Amino acid sequence: MKQNKKFLRQCAICKEIKNKSDLIRLTKDYKTGKTQINQESKIQGRSVYICKNSICLGKALKNKKIESFLNLKADENIKEELYNLLKN
Ligand SMILES: [Zn+2]
Repeated sequence: MKQNKKFLRQCAICKEIKNKSDLIRLTKDYKTGKTQINQESKIQGRSVYICKNSICLGKALKNKKIESFLNLKADENIKEELYNLLKN
C-alpha cells in the first residue's frame, strides 16, 4: 500500500477519490449523536466525506443524502453550516 493512500477518501456524492484536504468531513459524534464538520478529526464517530464544491455539497443538501448516510433526521445546524460553506 502506498503511503499517501491514507489521505485519499471517496466523496459520498460523486464517488470520486480525492485528497482529504479537498473534501469536507462530516462526523456523527458517538456520544452526542450530533453531526458536525470534523475537519481536524477531533470527533469520533461515523463519517462521510463530501467534495468541497457547490455541486456535491448542493446535491448532498438537496437529496437529503447526508441524513440518510448518517442515519439522522434533519439537523438544521449542520445544514446551515454547509450552506455557509457553499456561499464562501
Ligand atoms: Zn464529490
